[in-house]
Amino acid sequence: MLTIWLTAGKSKKAANKGSLFFNMVLRGIGAAPGFAAGKIHIHKKTCIEPIERIDPGGEERQLEKYQLIKKQAKEKLEKIMLSMEKHDPEKAKIFAVHQDIADDIIINEEITDKIKNEHWAGDWAIYQVYETCLSMVRKAPDPLIAQRAADFEDVRSLLLRLWQGIEDEGLSLTEPVIIAACDLLPSDTAALDKNKVLALLTETGGVTSHSAIIAKSYGIPAILGIQGLLNAVKQEQFAAVDSNAGTVILDPDKATIEDYNKKTAVFILERMEADTFLSGEAYTACKERIEVGLNIANASDDELAASPYVDSVGLFRTEFLYMGAKALPAEDEQFAVYRKVLEHFGQRPVTLRTLDIGGDKPLSYLNLSHEDNPFLGNRALRFCFSHPEIFKTQIRACLRASVYGNLQIMLPMVSSLDDIHMAKEFIRTVINDMKKESLKVGEIKTGIMIEIPSIAFLADHAAREVDFASIGSNDLCQYLCAADRMNSAVAPYYQSYHPAMFRLIKETAAAFNNAGKPLSICGELGADPLAIPVLIGLGMRKFSMAAASVAAVKRAIASSTVKNAEKMAAKVLELTTAAEVKNYLSKNI
Ligand code: PEP
Ligand code: MG
Repeated sequence: MLTIWLTAGKSKKAANKGSLFFNMVLRGIGAAPGFAAGKIHIHKKTCIEPIERIDPGGEERQLEKYQLIKKQAKEKLEKIMLSMEKHDPEKAKIFAVHQDIADDIIINEEITDKIKNEHWAGDWAIYQVYETCLSMVRKAPDPLIAQRAADFEDVRSLLLRLWQGIEDEGLSLTEPVIIAACDLLPSDTAALDKNKVLALLTETGGVTSHSAIIAKSYGIPAILGIQGLLNAVKQEQFAAVDSNAGTVILDPDKATIEDYNKKTAVFILERMEADTFLSGEAYTACKERIEVGLNIANASDDELAASPYVDSVGLFRTEFLYMGAKALPAEDEQFAVYRKVLEHFGQRPVTLRTLDIGGDKPLSYLNLSHEDNPFLGNRALRFCFSHPEIFKTQIRACLRASVYGNLQIMLPMVSSLDDIHMAKEFIRTVINDMKKESLKVGEIKTGIMIEIPSIAFLADHAAREVDFASIGSNDLCQYLCAADRMNSAVAPYYQSYHPAMFRLIKETAAAFNNAGKPLSICGELGADPLAIPVLIGLGMRKFSMAAASVAAVKRAIASSTVKNAEKMAAKVLELTTAAEVKNYLSKNI
């Protein structure tokens, strides 16, 4: 994707002389919404590279130095962890993980080997060995793995800084600025004063990177993946950021700055206004009740803190329990987490999605075979069918927890009715086994993700077989548009507003509404205020999203009437391209 281009315009001064002036415009992926105008603060911490490739001073000395800086690094990390433990225990845990990474046996053996036997300079060995780990984890599309990459990078950066005697620049800001960085690492954000960050721009990182997650949770506009960013910008240079468009205008003129300041003010007001919708139940302007659920991943206290504002857990991505562990989580371990969430939500439904793993989301402790097309491979339910013991253990843990609340089991990556039959058979078998052991099972509902077009087209048949369904628009879009959701090279083809998406959702909603079975949407489209009225107009009455989107979605619901939403949906179904849909929605909401 073209990252940098020039826009031509006429400033007053230039216009008087009749000449054109050019603004450099950078382009990346808008990862958290908003506008900003202000000075750039370049943060280079993560871009440290090794100085020497070949050992300049004897292996022994290099090895000693490595042991010394590793010790210093661990002391530093311990200090940060202790200082954070009281006010932010969740973040403190990150620095415990960093200590584990610095101590990792395989990494240490590799680095020692490179220095001792291949005569590499210590910083080169650190850089390369970590690079090998990073290149594996960076490729993984899963958010948890993406966060792990940031952790590895953070530890590497700390070791290299200590090796080269470079002071930690830190991110202690004295005035509000737009941060430009390679990527933000967990240690950058640990003590970050979010009130001093107008916007965040990074060279690397996609919508699921650590930077994106932090920016979204702090409400900071962010544009990521801007190639050549750090070469293009200067310290203290002025910039205007529009993360909705994914653009950064460098050296904007006065009129542009004023325009962006106005946009920023409107955006902040809108967000404050949206926050006033957070606590109430969601109703349309015509008083139709809409259910708003929460998407969770690790069941941490932070995640569950949003529970007072939602009607249910619409999606519990249980794979995070597996990916955050060093071995398959045992039944008891899973049971404890599921029980915690079920008890927390009481009678409100908790939709626990069974393991969505495999292919490009490998579990490091399982030796999964390589696949050329992992998204079309042995993923999710298919993986579970081919690993029956793993699947049964999870189902058993869910069913044991079911007596503590209102459990819904949801199956990912369903492509046919055969999948539904087979998964239900697994559940029946586990229930029968448990009954034989006199173990109690609560009332449960079984549902499916609609994220593969083949099952969306069979929604009428599927609706008869299951108790509920949820549209996984993230995958549905990737399979419908044949565009890898994690590949920025085909990002223009991944079109959430593709008219075909809305046509398929219409059919799916009609099928489930006719069958009287609940249908929700838990992909990003269901968290997009622009899409909410259309989805209501297409018959959707349940939405599930990350906590950060709840207020804005409730506000979008409150601003819609069913009648108007239906009119908008009818119009969208007539449109021919994603651009037309976006344009229509932007103008009519
Ligand atoms: C989806 O595909 O829309 C979805 C919610 O699942 P995930 O993003 O975890 O694949
Ligand atoms: Mg999915």
